[in-house]
Amino acid sequence: MSPDFRAEIEEIRDKADILNVVNDYVQLKRVGQRYVGLCPFHSEKTPSFSVSPERGFFHCFGCGQGGDVFTFIQLIERVEFPEALRMLAERFGVKLAERSRENAGLADERADINKLCSFAEAFYMKALQSESGKQARAYLTNRGIKAEIAAQFRVGYAPPGSLLYKVLKGKNVTPERMERAGLVIWGQNGYYDRFRERLMFPIRDHRKKVVGFGGRLLGEGVPKYLNSPESVAFSKGRILYGLDSAAESIRQNNRVFVVEGYMDVLALRQFGLNNVVASLGTAFTEYHARLLARYAKQVYLCYDADSAGKAATVRGLQILKQQGLEVHITELPSGEDPDTFVQRYGLDAFLALAEKGPGIIEFQIARVLEGVNMDQPESLAAAVKEALPILGGVTDTIERDLHVQRLGTAVGVSADSIRQQVRQFLAQPRNRSQIMDINAKSSHTKHVMDSGKVAPYAPIAPPGYPQQAILAEQELLKQASLTPEISSEIKERTGGLVIELHQQLLNVLASYNEAGREALHNLFEALDAPKIRYVRELMLKADEEAASGLNFDIGGCIERIREGRVILRIHQLEQEIIKRETRGVPETGEAEMSEILTELRELHGQLRIRSAPR
Ligand SMILES: [Zn+2]
Repeated sequence: MSPDFRAEIEEIRDKADILNVVNDYVQLKRVGQRYVGLCPFHSEKTPSFSVSPERGFFHCFGCGQGGDVFTFIQLIERVEFPEALRMLAERFGVKLAERSRENAGLADERADINKLCSFAEAFYMKALQSESGKQARAYLTNRGIKAEIAAQFRVGYAPPGSLLYKVLKGKNVTPERMERAGLVIWGQNGYYDRFRERLMFPIRDHRKKVVGFGGRLLGEGVPKYLNSPESVAFSKGRILYGLDSAAESIRQNNRVFVVEGYMDVLALRQFGLNNVVASLGTAFTEYHARLLARYAKQVYLCYDADSAGKAATVRGLQILKQQGLEVHITELPSGEDPDTFVQRYGLDAFLALAEKGPGIIEFQIARVLEGVNMDQPESLAAAVKEALPILGGVTDTIERDLHVQRLGTAVGVSADSIRQQVRQFLAQPRNRSQIMDINAKSSHTKHVMDSGKVAPYAPIAPPGYPQQAILAEQELLKQASLTPEISSEIKERTGGLVIELHQQLLNVLASYNEAGREALHNLFEALDAPKIRYVRELMLKADEEAASGLNFDIGGCIERIREGRVILRIHQLEQEIIKRETRGVPETGEAEMSEILTELRELHGQLRIRSAPR
C-alpha cells in the first residue's frame, strides 16, 4: 500500500461519520453512547446490532459481523474495497488520487456520463419552456401534472432534429462520449439524437446523479417509452425511478409503493404520497428487492390492471417475498393505472384500495383462473392443477382449507376432491422440495443478505492462570476503553496483563488519546476475525455497562490480577520441579533447585498475606 493511498483511507475514516452512513440502511436508536438496531446481515427480531460512533465501528452481537465504515459499505453494498472507498470518498468530499488505470477509466467514464447527462437534463428542461416545448407542456397539463411537480422531477422535452448533438459538438464533446452517455445514436447519415419529440424524465441513481433518461413519445408511434441504453452508470435492473427523492419517506413509513411508470410516480407525489418509486418497465429484479429491503419492510405493488401488469405483479411478488418483505397487492379497476386513478378519485381512495388489496394467495389463484373456460372440464382441471403448488405452499392448514373451499366454489368442484389433490401433490417429495425451495428463502426475515458468521473467541490463558484473573483483566479493559487515561496506571500496577490479546488492547488504549481510532484500527488489522469480534464486544459491553451506571472496582481487579500472577508463577515453578524430578536432578542443578524452592516458599507466603482477612 502506497503512503498516499493510506493517507486517503485515513482521511475518509476520519471524515466519514459511521452513524450517518449506517443510518441510511438501518433504523438506529440511541442507547447510552451506542446506537442499536436490527442487524442487516442476519435475521433477528430483537436488535443486537450496535454502532459506536465515537470509536468508528459497528458490531453485531448476534452474527459477529462488524468493522469500520469501509467494511459496512462493502458488506451492505456488496462491493469490493476500492468501490467502497470511491463511494465514501465521493460522499465525504475526499479527493482520491488516480489508482490503477482500469479503475480510473471506469470511474472516469461514469463521471463523464453523469456530466453529459446533467448537461442534457438542463438542455431538455430549457427546451420544455421554449416555443418548441409547447406541445409537451400541454401534454403535462392534460395529464394533470402541475408545473411545480414537473420542475421537481426536472422533466424536460427533447426537441425534434439533432439539436443536442449539435450543441454538445459545439462544446467539443466527441460523438463517442455522447454515444457512451446514451444521448446519440450512430446511423446511416452519421450521429443523431437518440431522444426526439419526447417528454424527458431524468433518471437518477441513489447518489442523486443523472445516469439516464426515460422519454415518452408525445405523438403516436413506437416505442411509446424509450430508455437510455445500459451503460457503466445506468442499469435498469439496478435503478428504481424516484428512489433518490423518496428514500427518506420510505424509511419513515416503513413502506413503499412500487408502480410501473414515471407518470404514476409524478401523479402520486403530486397528491402527497411521497414513498413511491417505479421500476423502469415491468422488470422487477432481485436487486430492486434488496434495495427496497434496506428502507422498508412493506411493499405495495401497484402495477397496471392489464395482463402485463398482472404478470409483473406475480414475478415481483415472488422476488420480494424471497427477500423477506411483506408484500401487498393493490388491484386497480380495469383500464386504470395509479396515475389515472388518483387523478380521478383522489389519494384517499387510492390508499383505501391499497389497504383492502387481495391477499397474495387469493391474487395468485385469481390469476390461474383468468381465461379459464368454465364450460370445459379439461380447462377447469388444468387450472386446479396449476393452483396446487400455490395451495401447497400455504403452511397454515386452516388458511389453506379456506382457499381450497373458495377455489372449489369458483370452479364447481367439491372441496374434498381438491383437498385430496393437494394431499397427493404434497406427498410427492419432488413437489415438496419445490415448495420448500420457495418458502425456505421467503421465511428468512433477513433484510439484505447473509454475510456469514464470525466465530466467537475465548481468551487463552497460560495454564495455571486463574479464571478470576482473566475476568479481572476483561473488567479493567472495559474500564480503560471508557477512560483511556487509566491505561498506564493499570499497566504499572498489574505489571502488564497476562493474556496477550488483552495486553495488546491495553497498549492501544494507552495511546488512544493521541492516536485515537487509527490505533484501534491498526490493532484490528493485525488480528483475525474472531479476536476482532472479541475486542469489539468488550468495548461495546463497556459502553452498555457505563450507561447502566454500575460501580466499578479498579483496585479489586488489579489485586486479583496480581494474585493471579503469583498463582501462575507458582504453577510454573511446580511444573519445573516435576520436570526436574522426573529427569533426575543433576549435581550442577541442585543450586537452581534450591532457588526454585525458596521462590516457591516466598510466593506461598505472599498468597497467604493476600488471602488473609484484612
Ligand atoms: Zn448480525
